Amino acid sequence: MDIRSKIRLFVDSPLGEGQSILLARDQANYLFNVMRLNIGDFISVFNGKDGEWQAEVLQANKRKGIIIVKNQSMPQLLPPDVWLLFAPIKKTRTDFIVEKATEMGVSRICPVFTDYTNSDRIKQSRLQAHSIEAAEQCGGTYVPPVDELSTLTSVLKSWPKERHLLFCDEHKVGENVKSMKATKSDKWAILIGPEGGFSDSEVMHLKSLEFVTSISLGPRILRADTAAVAALAIWQMQMGDWK
Ligand code: SAH
Repeated sequence: MDIRSKIRLFVDSPLGEGQSILLARDQANYLFNVMRLNIGDFISVFNGKDGEWQAEVLQANKRKGIIIVKNQSMPQLLPPDVWLLFAPIKKTRTDFIVEKATEMGVSRICPVFTDYTNSDRIKQSRLQAHSIEAAEQCGGTYVPPVDELSTLTSVLKSWPKERHLLFCDEHKVGENVKSMKATKSDKWAILIGPEGGFSDSEVMHLKSLEFVTSISLGPRILRADTAAVAALAIWQMQMGDWK
């Protein structure tokens, strides 16, 4: 069946033909109260691992429901192996970064605490929920895991050396945006700083690391959330799945 229901739901269970899934309360509420679906209607479901499947509503109540998985409508698609490291900013802007990173296609989202990061807390579950919602909305079959907040220092200390780190350095404002030379199969990460930018010692430390390449994002200083989207667009265009 080529038909794909536009209503997409992330489910935390294995997917395969004949599998029945008990819906959580918020999912039942969304499908039956908000979207007004009935028994016999179809939805698209994905779990981040098994691609997208069409599932039929078998039971529909206000607070619960059962769907039955019928056929696969899309294979599992993985994003390129690029992580986004960013310093959390204000709540809604941090949500935006997670949402946009999911849409742009990243394999992992890593909030990092830097010298000039103002917010010392994030709610991982809330950010993860944002990335699930973004995947539901953008037609993706993959949900990037969102890490707990770690310090930039500790992340760099335990860095897997074969992974390139693209350091978006606001001191390079006005320089040409680099074209990157690497093979497509390489592993990458992109680092975006907080509103206050990076401290001198962070810049020095980052530049001393072999796996780090610093880049400019053009002639204007971008806000952190804009910078994340811009950097991902540059990267996807040159090395990711946009080319
Ligand atoms: N307050 C800082 C700017 C921080 S912008 C200043 O005035 O210098 C937030 C983050 O976005 C930066 O840390 C950097 O990672 C990224 N960024 C924004 N504009 C950039 C540019 N033109 N080139 C490279 N990185 C940029």
